[in-house]
Amino acid sequence: MANTNLDDVPSLDLMTELLRRFKCSSKPDKRLILIGPPGSGKGTQSPIIKDEYCLCHLATGDMLRAAVAAKTPLGVKAKEAMNKGELVSDDLVVGIIDEAMKKPSCQKGFILDGFPRTVVQAQKLDEMLQNQGVKVDKVLNFAIDDAILEERITGRWIHPSSGRTYHTKFAPPKVLGVDDVTGEPLIQRKDDTAAVLKLRLEAFHKQTEPVIDYYSKKGLVANLHAEKPPKEVTVEVEKVLS
Ligand code: ADP
Ligand code: AMP
Repeated sequence: MANTNLDDVPSLDLMTELLRRFKCSSKPDKRLILIGPPGSGKGTQSPIIKDEYCLCHLATGDMLRAAVAAKTPLGVKAKEAMNKGELVSDDLVVGIIDEAMKKPSCQKGFILDGFPRTVVQAQKLDEMLQNQGVKVDKVLNFAIDDAILEERITGRWIHPSSGRTYHTKFAPPKVLGVDDVTGEPLIQRKDDTAAVLKLRLEAFHKQTEPVIDYYSKKGLVANLHAEKPPKEVTVEVEKVLS
């Protein structure tokens, strides 16, 4: 472990973490996939599901953006496709998911947000899980009309290090341009423009919608009304997972 000295950790933080772990110990394992077009609300619902079920949240888009920012070999390979609104290669994302699922925070299961996005990725995921003797429990389909997404995407602001998401109209931060929790600046994603959204939606319909059929055939898909306000979507999610 990198840091075993807990002397400097405030007691309240230690107690809070202990309580969290105690609560988590009684939760069942869950392996969830969130599928939906860009802006459908996957990143907004994920932290709520993560906290409720003690899962890790693995968002391939966030991981790729971190790699691009750090200019790692993975980031260098992924950057061009991402800026153009195209998918990066299956091998790249399968590799990062395989690695990320080994984290201790994924012990109780995971929320995959933005993965798998092709049928090949779904098949590779099945293989990975089969090797571990586990399987996907549920696929949440964030069903929504394309027409709603431009306003959501162009008004989105994010806090890069935590992945927290805001919206100028639907979920404004307390202070414009500033993260509520850390006070750090918010940014807009380079690909969150109307023009790139069009290409991302094309990729979604062509390459990702078949993934919904793939899991429907396995009887795993629950359809959500993702056009509803965030709190109503959360209620639907809770019903599906209870
Ligand atoms: P995704 O992760 O699916 O790309 P996000 O969760 O980041 O989508 O949501 C896209 C934008 O829309 C964000 O700015 C978010 O605050 C906002 N948003 C999310 N869910 C809703 C909703 N149900 N109604 C209105 N706005 C929403
Ligand atoms: P997202 O943050 O989910 O909107 O993803 C941003 C971009 O990252 C996408 O437009 C793709 O270029 C890339 N990306 C994220 N996840 C995947 C994936 N599973 N397969 C291929 N490309 C991905």
